[in-house]
Amino acid sequence: SLAHDHDPESERVRVAVRLRPRNSEDLSDADYTDCVELQPELKRLKLKKNNWSSEAYRFDEVFTESASQKRVYEVVAKPVVESVLDGYNGTVMAYGQTGTGKTYTLGRLGKDDVSERGMMVRALEDILVSTSASDSVEISYVQLYMESIQDLLAPEKINIPIVEDAKTGEVSVPGAAIVKIRNLDQFLHFLQLGEVNRHAANTKMNTESSRSHAILMVYIRRSVREKEEKDIYLKENNPADINGHHLPTIRKSKLLLVDLAGSERIDKSGSEGHLLEEAKFINLSLTSLGKCINALAENSPHIPTRDSKLTRLLRDSFGGSARTSLIITIGPSYRHHQETATTVMFGQRAM
Ligand code: ADP
Ligand code: MG
Repeated sequence: SLAHDHDPESERVRVAVRLRPRNSEDLSDADYTDCVELQPELKRLKLKKNNWSSEAYRFDEVFTESASQKRVYEVVAKPVVESVLDGYNGTVMAYGQTGTGKTYTLGRLGKDDVSERGMMVRALEDILVSTSASDSVEISYVQLYMESIQDLLAPEKINIPIVEDAKTGEVSVPGAAIVKIRNLDQFLHFLQLGEVNRHAANTKMNTESSRSHAILMVYIRRSVREKEEKDIYLKENNPADINGHHLPTIRKSKLLLVDLAGSERIDKSGSEGHLLEEAKFINLSLTSLGKCINALAENSPHIPTRDSKLTRLLRDSFGGSARTSLIITIGPSYRHHQETATTVMFGQRAM
């Protein structure tokens, strides 16, 4: 495999926070008060604890309610996309309470207004522009619900296993449909199909889509010109060794875009039966994600990815040479300050 600069900055999870504008619930709330104050130039967020005190937190980036989709993409996702185009794996995740803008940020199609397009569309747009006819771009789109993977492109496929290559450590979901993408219209079609299927599957299971994780996997294979490969090799090795050394001509990488389940604490005491099981599974996957992110932030040699399917799927896409960005989404109202505080703490632990 290709050696590359050992840049500790790239190992760390980069964390941004995005504030949603007030929604109709906030606007019709007679007792509405703000819960957050943003200082984007200081990359700082102040969270109101009560009427007389607040606490400040720093992030890699702080987006106000008027930040554009374009800017959020360029700051949070584009560096990851560029590194994936260079041959490394990468992950972009959105974490936050239901209704705070995770799907808006990641999955928005922007059919009527291209300026509203989310990260998934913009990432594919960049990838398609940067690859040539001899490269290959493929996608799978799945949802993870109660530790079971379902295909969002071929909804009859359920309980799909995660496969891990013992030699390379490569993680894949070969049981899910893999679709070759040649142009953006084609991608928009499949993204919309996935959205429709996600809705239908969740109606059938009598659950909310906020209870599942939606994961778009983009597989890129690029043919690398031999000369380019030789130059890289020679930069890092003794020229005398090049004879007989096998130089790869295909570079494979993978981008994961993850729209996580709603982070709100589900009141387990009030739930029973199916809802209780659901709550346990969501808590399991988000808790184990939190542990992995902490381990990455602490530069721990061991990232505990075995505890949930979510983290097993991410295994080869964060840590090591992979780049990871996390965007946490929050609402502005003091009414939800408890959930907002929990979300902000999740983001802080990643830094
Ligand atoms: P989530 O996926 O976190 O549950 P959504 O992305 O569905 O939340 O957002 C909830 C609602 O708020 C949607 O109607 C969405 O269009 C709107 N919304 C979220 N974030 C923004 C934003 N930054 N600007 C404008 N509208 C937003
Ligand atoms: Mg959503």
